[in-house]
Formats: sequence, structure tokens, C-alpha cells
Amino acid sequence: MLEQSYSPENFEEKIYSKSEDEGLFRADANSTKPSFLITMPPPNVTGALHIGHALFVSIQDTYARWKRMLGYNTLWLPGTDHAGIATQVMVEKQVASEGTSRQQLGREKFLERVWEWKKEFGGTITDQIRVLGSSCDWSRELFTLDPKSSAAVKASFTKLYHDGLIYRGERIVNWSSGLQTAISDLEVELRPVQGAFYYLKYMLADGSGDFLTVATTRPETIFADVAVAVNPTDERFAKLKGKEVIVPISGRKVPVITDDYVDKEFGTGALKITPGHDANDWTIGQRHKLKTLTTINKDGKLNELAGEFAGAVAAHSRKRVAEKLKELGLLVKEEKHNYELGYCQRTGVVVEPLVSMQWFMKMKPMAEMALKAATGEDPALRFYPDFWRKTWFQWLNNIQDWCISRQLWWGHQIPAWHCGKCTQITVLKDHNDSDPKACAHCGSSAITQDPDVLDTWYSSALWPISTLGWPEKTSDLDVFYPTLRFDQARGGKEAKALMETGSDIIFFWVARMVMMCTYFMKGRLPFEDVFLHAMVFDEKGQKMSKTKGNVIDPLEVTAKSGSDSLRLTLLALSGQGRNVNLDLKRVEGYKAFVNKLWNASRFAMMQISEQNVTAYKNPLQQLDKLDFVDRWLLVQLNDTVKKVNDELTHYRPDAAFHAIYQFAWYELCDWYLELVKVKKGSLDTLCFALETLLKLLHPMAPMVTERIYSELPWAERGKLMLQEFPLPHPGEIAKASDLHQVAAMKSAVEGIRNFRTENKISPKAQIQAVLETEQAALWENLSRFVVALAKLGEVLVNGKAPTGASGKVATNEFVFTLPLEGLVDTAAEKARLMNETKKVRGDVEFSLKRLENPAFIERAKPELVAKERDTLAANQEKLKTLEEALKRLG
Ligand SMILES: [Zn+2]
Repeated sequence: MLEQSYSPENFEEKIYSKSEDEGLFRADANSTKPSFLITMPPPNVTGALHIGHALFVSIQDTYARWKRMLGYNTLWLPGTDHAGIATQVMVEKQVASEGTSRQQLGREKFLERVWEWKKEFGGTITDQIRVLGSSCDWSRELFTLDPKSSAAVKASFTKLYHDGLIYRGERIVNWSSGLQTAISDLEVELRPVQGAFYYLKYMLADGSGDFLTVATTRPETIFADVAVAVNPTDERFAKLKGKEVIVPISGRKVPVITDDYVDKEFGTGALKITPGHDANDWTIGQRHKLKTLTTINKDGKLNELAGEFAGAVAAHSRKRVAEKLKELGLLVKEEKHNYELGYCQRTGVVVEPLVSMQWFMKMKPMAEMALKAATGEDPALRFYPDFWRKTWFQWLNNIQDWCISRQLWWGHQIPAWHCGKCTQITVLKDHNDSDPKACAHCGSSAITQDPDVLDTWYSSALWPISTLGWPEKTSDLDVFYPTLRFDQARGGKEAKALMETGSDIIFFWVARMVMMCTYFMKGRLPFEDVFLHAMVFDEKGQKMSKTKGNVIDPLEVTAKSGSDSLRLTLLALSGQGRNVNLDLKRVEGYKAFVNKLWNASRFAMMQISEQNVTAYKNPLQQLDKLDFVDRWLLVQLNDTVKKVNDELTHYRPDAAFHAIYQFAWYELCDWYLELVKVKKGSLDTLCFALETLLKLLHPMAPMVTERIYSELPWAERGKLMLQEFPLPHPGEIAKASDLHQVAAMKSAVEGIRNFRTENKISPKAQIQAVLETEQAALWENLSRFVVALAKLGEVLVNGKAPTGASGKVATNEFVFTLPLEGLVDTAAEKARLMNETKKVRGDVEFSLKRLENPAFIERAKPELVAKERDTLAANQEKLKTLEEALKRLG
């Protein structure tokens, strides 16, 4: 028997570890069933579970369990990411606290330390994912630095290099002087800063004494200026074409060039061009074949080009350079200006755009496949919600080459060797070959492996294939990897693989997986459906952050309310396209739902055990033996089954859960369980409805449903998670008259219940009633239900109405006259009603006067006027009810 009260802490862990131990989460590479694959976004190995993880687990586990119950050979493949920067920074801090440093330890020793850390703490996040009930296949768990993943990285790099898609070159990148590495846009945090626009004089080199005013927020970079650009259509500068100007302080002559990029309205309309320290200037520099100067070194300090400022930290020299310019009479003015500046997320230092030698991947040819995959009426690749498709096109059409190298130690070291003699690069011909011993170009043995590692997102981009064993030909790849090509139409086929992740990494991750995996799998897409969930914010819609103190820890929530309540809350809030604003009160609300399910199940099981039921007959196969109440319930249940399957198919788990909630709470608990008490008889429908409900809810709330199911006397055939998911019954279940009878019964019961509430009649008091109806036969069928549920006493059909104060309840089928005498203190109630009437009448008059006043209508805000109208309407309605109640009292 189920315990008296719902206490998830008593069973969640037991159920989970038992299922895992029994191998129930494992997919079968030898199965002949259709396959379904979800590759879990690998959380950072350094990470602690946050609410974003909880959201993706709730959604992905729902899909994994649903598909498994539908009979698919389901693989939900988990893993963790080595998180290059995050992990390295953390271990660096650790060794620093021991008085040493990464550099002092050397590469090999330092990496040993990181692996030690990984061995000790790397399992934390995966254990936390288990707490949420995740049914992923832990036997296939992969870490991005495991040999399997490393082989994929090596094989892909080797192929892309020889295919001409990976190259090395000097480009401008985001440089973190704190980390001494290039970083991705995602690792740059934009913060608003109060800065200034400095208006500088660039004197004409012709000695005329004329000058050009240039506005800049970064005067400390002028030492690397190589040109001043104006818009070609800007007539103010027409006479300067082909002339030269002198860079302030440094005294170098640079040309005035014209470029469409320059905005005439911005600043003075003249832009200093510093390709070494600005990404846009770099592009302009490339276009005009300008040279690149560097005045900020990789340590963030100014170099000898800056003359007297050499050696100072660039970001801190701005004021000093400005003062010098003022001294020289070259500062026209200084204007306050607020803008966004990029900071390194990990170290908090200002990110400098710097030119450096890096490895890049050519993205344009790769992007073509990803674009094609989503193009057309019936594209192979689908987005849920569909509006992401537009974003997809925008980004891929403007894609830049990807800087894949990082100046870190923790990660996949680039499999390329530099020759000390001829300076050429050697990359293996085949990834299975061992490391080269000599230069492939001149044969010299003086070769060294490139010290850089690959961007963490590089191995993530290969995740759907590396987890299945690529580049080896594995049975997992055969069984689980989709077969649809990027240039084929979907043709009504359902997805063999789902990618579900946060919309914030659509480009960093989703797009790169599509490009890389499609490339290596000969045009076959890694997944056909992409479901992008919204970001979780706090209840006010603010981002959760430690500094704001509004972070919700999912483990605290599950400890208090159980994992099912948290999952249901997140699913309910996961509606597409909106932010998920999480309020802890909502979790309490869904815990109340789980509680209701628990109590309803206990009630049902008591009935079941009272009647010694150990098995039941499917009511859908004996419909004509059932009564109208049972058939009505089966219709509601069947509609719910249909809706749940339908909504899940269209990636609306929130709507699927809503349908279950409505059925369970309102139809099953509020009505059917009450009716069962009255009607007695066969429990087949009750047993079937409870079991079906548990199956429907199982993918979303696996723990509590599994626990309840295990107590069903006929559940010896095994775990709920292994049962078949309910599918809609095709035939007719009920006649129209069945549904009409229940509707008539409900409106009679509700009408009498409202009458009780309005007249403050004790719920315990039985009311006598006189019934007028032309449908005596209908009443005959319904009377026992209405009498029990509405707590009626004797009902006199078509008899004489009682004398004295009474009320009437009228439905489409029945008119009940209900005596009030003896049930209410008539005098006191009359006094109360009169008082109330007086007050409401006053409010109505006030609103009317206000709304008749033209001054109010003209001057007040429209929403205030609308509010007044609403108040008036509500009070008029109330007044009517009160007057009617008074009339009833006589
Ligand atoms: Zn060589």
C-alpha cells in the first residue's frame, strides 16, 4: 500500500538506482526496433547543476521516456565537456594557492594535476543529473577528452586540413591578457561603461594648418593608426581625397581613404583606422590593403610605438594620453559617452581585439550545407519553434571563419607539427598514423607539435558522431545515426534524432554540429529536429546571478519538493518562445498536484483492495457493459491521450502536461472519484483510468508514477517505464446521450452547490427539494448522483412547492425549488444582504457619476477609464445577485 502521505525522499533514489542497475536506461545496438537518439548537451565537468540543466533534463527525459514507451530503441547519450578555460583557470588557482604556478610546473605536470582533479570531482555533475531522474544511458557516457572523442578530433582535423578547410594565419581575435589566449565571443562579457568621446585634431600633412577632427573612445590606440576613413559621398571631406594627415603625438603620416562602412552621422564622420586593435578596422584594412600596426602587446601593455607611454597597461593609459593630447593642443573636446566594453568572463580583464597567429576553419563552404538543410517547403532540418529558422539563415549567411586555436594547455593539442628548419607545417595523412618524426617537406627531424589546443566547441561540434564511435565504423553509428541527407526533403518522416538545447547556443553549438557532422557523414544530418528551449529567469524575469542573490538551486528544490514537482514546474513553464520565469511558489503548486494524484491513487487502491481486484478487463473492449458515467470518463481520457501524443509530437510538452493536469484534477478527481463512491459496481474503468494516467504522466514525472504503479496489484508484469505508452482508441466510445446525461448531472450539482455557497448553507446540511421537470426518465438515471453530490434530502418530483422563503436553481433540464427556512437565519441574512446592497449601490452610483463627467473621460488615462467601466459592470452584476437573493428571502 502507498504510504499515507507523499514523501519523495522515501523512494526517488531507490527507484532510480534500481532502474539504472537493472540496465533499463540502456539502448540496444542489436535491436531491430526503430531507433531514437537524443545526444545530451555535455555540461562542463567543473560545473554544478543549475536550473538550466534541470530544464533540459526535464524536457529530454520526457522525450526519451515517451519514445521508449512508444517502442523505440531509445538512446539518450550523456557526457561531460572538458571546458578548456573554466577547468584550466580553476586548477591554476589551486596550484597558485600552493605557492606555485602552471608555468613553474610545466605542461606535463600541470596536466597531471588537472586529470587528478577530474578523477576526484568530475562525477559531481553527473550524479546531480541522476537526482533529477534522468534515464540516460550511462554505460555510453563520454568525456570530451576520452580516447574516443580525441580520435574523432584528430581524424576531423587531419581531414579538414588536407581538404583545405583548416588554415593558419594572422587575424584579429578577442584576446584575453588575463588568460593569455584568444577567446570566443561567448566568453566575452559586455558591460556598460562610462567613457568619453575624445575629439582629436589630425593635422593635414601639407602644412596648410587645416585639420580633420576624429572622434574616438580609445585615444591610446592612435599609435597604431594607419589611415583615416570618410564616407565617399560625404561632401564635407571631398577636398581631402588623396591627402595625408598626421597622427597626433606619433607624428606619422597616414592617408585619408574613403569607405562605405563609415557612417556620416556618427561622431564627426571621420574614422581613424586601427586594424591591429579593432575588428571592423581590420576588415576595412584588408579591403584597402593597409598594413597592420600593433601598439598593444599580448600582456595588455603598450609597446615602443607608444613612445613615452610604452610599458603602461593600455586600458589604464587612456586619461594620460588624453592629457598629453590636450597639452599639445590636439584635443578639441571631450564628451561623456556610455558604451559597452568587452570583459573576459573568467578573469575580468578588458578584452583587447589583437592580431595574432591562429588556426582557423573556413566556414562559408560548410555553412552552405547547413543553409540548404533548412531551406524550402519541406526541409530536412526543422526548428521548434520555427522562428529560429530566420535567425539561422541570418547568421549562416554572414558567417566568418572560426578561430579554433586557444593558447591553453587543457584540451586537444593541435595535431600539427612545425619545422624548425623550413618552417612548414606537417599534418598526418591519416589519423591512425603515429605522431610524425620528421618534416613532411624537408625531412628535418627538428619538428615540434603546435603548443595550442583546440577551442572547446571544436570537440563539441563532433559530439553527435564522436559519442557513437566515429571515425570507427561502429554498430552504434549504424543503428542510431540518422540517414536523412541535408539536401533531401523530409517527406513526412519523423526524426530519428532530436537535438534539444538552449537557444543561446544555436550558433556556438547547433550550427557547428550540423556543419561538421554532415561533412563527415557524407551529407547525412546529425539530427532532423532541433528543439530550442527558452532561458530560465527568476520570477521577475531577471537573469539569475550570484550577485543578485536570485539563483535557484535545483538540488535544494528537489530535496524539499521532490524531482517530479520541479520537472513538472519547468515543463509547465517551458512554453515555446517565451522566457521561463521561475517562481518557487509554482513548484509548491505542482507539488500539490502530485499530492492530489497520490491521494487519488490511494483512494482508488482502497476501493480496489476492498473488492479484492487483482486484474481488470479493458473497459474499451466491453463498452456496452459499462454505464454512461464510465463511458463519459473514457471519452475524457481518450481525448487526453490524443492530446498528449499530439502535443509531444509538436514539441509542446507544456501543453501535453496541461492536458494531463486538466484531466487528472478536474475530470478524474473532482468528478469521477466522487461518482464511483455513489455508483459502486465494476472497477474496471477506474483501474484502467488510473493506470493510463500514470503511463501518460510517467515521462514527465517518472518517480512518483513508478512508485504508485508498483502498488497496483496487477503490476507484477514489471516497471511502468517499460509499459506501452497509451495511444488513442480509434472507435466511438460513448453515445451523445451518455455525454448529455453527465452534462445535465454536472450542471444540476454545480447549480445547487452555488446556491449553497451564496446562501451560506452549511455543507453538512441536507436540503429538501421540489423538482419540476419534463424529463422524469433522465432524473431517474441521475437522481442518485445529484442527491449524493449536492447533498439533497428528499426530492419531490413535480410536487407542490414549499410555502415560505425558498430559492430556485434552474438548469436546461431541471428546476429545483429549495426551501430556505430552517437552513438560514432569515432575519440576520436579510440584514446582511441589505447592508451589502447599500454599499454596492453606492459604488455603482459613484462610477456612473464619474463616467458621466466629460472632464474625467477626456483627461484620465484610457486605461483608467476602462478600469472604471469594468468596476461598474462588476458592481452592477453583484447588485443584481444581491437583489435576487433578497427577493428569495421574501
Ligand atoms: Zn621542414
